[in-house]
Amino acid sequence: MRIEFKTLAKKYGTPLYIYDFNYITQQYLSLKEAFDGQKSIIAYAVKANSNLSVINHLAKMGAGADCVSIGEVRRALKSGIKKYKIIFSGVGKRDDEIKEALESGILFINIESEAEMKRVEMIAKKLDIEARISVRVNPNIDAKTHPYISTGLHNSKFGVEIDMAKRMYIYAKNSKNLNPIGIHFHIGSQLTELEPIREACDIVADLVKSLSVIKIDIKFFDIGGGIGIKYDDEITITPKDYADTIIESTKKLDVTLMCEPGRYMTANSGYFLTKVLYEKQNGKHRFVMVDGAMNDLLRPSLYGAYHFIEPVESKDLEKTPADVVGPVCESGDFLGKAVELPPLESGDLLIVNSAGAYGFTMSSNYNTRGRTAEIAIIDGVDKIIRDRETFEDQIRLEESYLNI
Ligand SMILES: *Cc1c(COP(=O)(O)O)cnc(C)c1O
Repeated sequence: MRIEFKTLAKKYGTPLYIYDFNYITQQYLSLKEAFDGQKSIIAYAVKANSNLSVINHLAKMGAGADCVSIGEVRRALKSGIKKYKIIFSGVGKRDDEIKEALESGILFINIESEAEMKRVEMIAKKLDIEARISVRVNPNIDAKTHPYISTGLHNSKFGVEIDMAKRMYIYAKNSKNLNPIGIHFHIGSQLTELEPIREACDIVADLVKSLSVIKIDIKFFDIGGGIGIKYDDEITITPKDYADTIIESTKKLDVTLMCEPGRYMTANSGYFLTKVLYEKQNGKHRFVMVDGAMNDLLRPSLYGAYHFIEPVESKDLEKTPADVVGPVCESGDFLGKAVELPPLESGDLLIVNSAGAYGFTMSSNYNTRGRTAEIAIIDGVDKIIRDRETFEDQIRLEESYLNI
C-alpha cells in the first residue's frame, strides 16, 4: 500500500512512527492459518510494540498475549485480549506482579527458576488458589551450529535445564497450590532457520512424553517467539514451514500449540519517518543530520542493527554513502552507517524501514526529547494512536518538587 509520507509529516510533524495495520492483519492471519486444524494460540509478544491500539487490533482477530511485566499484562487486558489467552513470562518477577497476575486469572505464569516456583506457590497459598504454571525449559541448542541463537543455551540467564524442569514439574504436581499445565521455551530472536526450532521442539516434546508417563499432563506447548523477518536480504522461514515443523514434532502429543511472535507481527508494518536537518562533511566523511535519534529508535545504537533507509522523494542524483545521525550528544547516535543517499536538503524526508517492532517501545526521553507520536494506517486512512509527548508531559512527575 502507498503511504503518503509527505502528507503525514505535514499533518503530524516529525519524527514519527507509522504502522500499517493491514500488514499486521496479514501477518497474524498467515500464522494462524498455518496452524489450521490444530488447537493453537498466537500469543503476541507485547514488548515488540505495546501501543494499546496495536494490541487491540490483534485482540479483535483473536490473538493472545505474551507479557514480560505486570504493566504488559495490564496493557493486554485493557486492550481486550482474553485473560485465558494471556501468559506472563520473564526471568525476574516481583511478588506484587505475581500476586496481581494470579488474581487477574490469566492462562499461566511462566516459571524460570525453582526459587521462582516456590515464590509463586507461597503467594498462591496466601490467596488460597491454585496457580497455573508452565516451566521455561532451556533446551541447550548448540550455538556453534546455530550462531544466531542467543537465549537457548545454558550460558544464558533464561530457563532451566531439562532435568531441573522435570524435578520442578514433579514438585508442582504434588503441590496443592500449583497446577503445571504448560511447557515453554524461547531459543532466541530473529531466527531464520528451521533446524534449531525442530531440535528444540523434539527435545521438549520428549520431555512432555516422559512427564505424561508419570501422570503429569501438559496441555500447552509453547515454542516462544523469534520468527525472523527481512530487514535486508535475509532469507527467512515461512509461517507454513514454521508451523509444519512444530506440528510434526508434537504430533504424538495432545496439546494446544502456542507461539509468541513479536517482531514477525509488527516489524515490517512500521516506518520511522524523520526529517533532514542538514548535511555535513567532516573531511571525507559525509553525515546527514536528521531530527530522529537513538532515543527514538535505539536498535542501531544498541545492537548495530540494520534498517533500510530511503528518501521519500527519489531524486535522480548520484548516491554516495552517508552516516545518518541524530542530534543526541553521543557518538553512538546513528540510524544508519554508509547509507547510499542522493544529496539532501533541509526538510527532505527519510524513511527508516522495519521500525514497527522494538522501535517505539525502546524509546526514551534522553536529552529531554519528547517521545514521538504514533500513527496507524487502516485501509489507507491515517489515525493517531499516541500523541507526541510534550515538555510538560516530561516534567510532570518532577515539577512539584522544584525548590525543595
Ligand atoms: C522477546 C520474546 C518474544 C518475542 O520475540 P520476537 O523475536 O520478537 O518474536 C517471545 N517470547 C519471549 C519469552 C521473549 O522473551
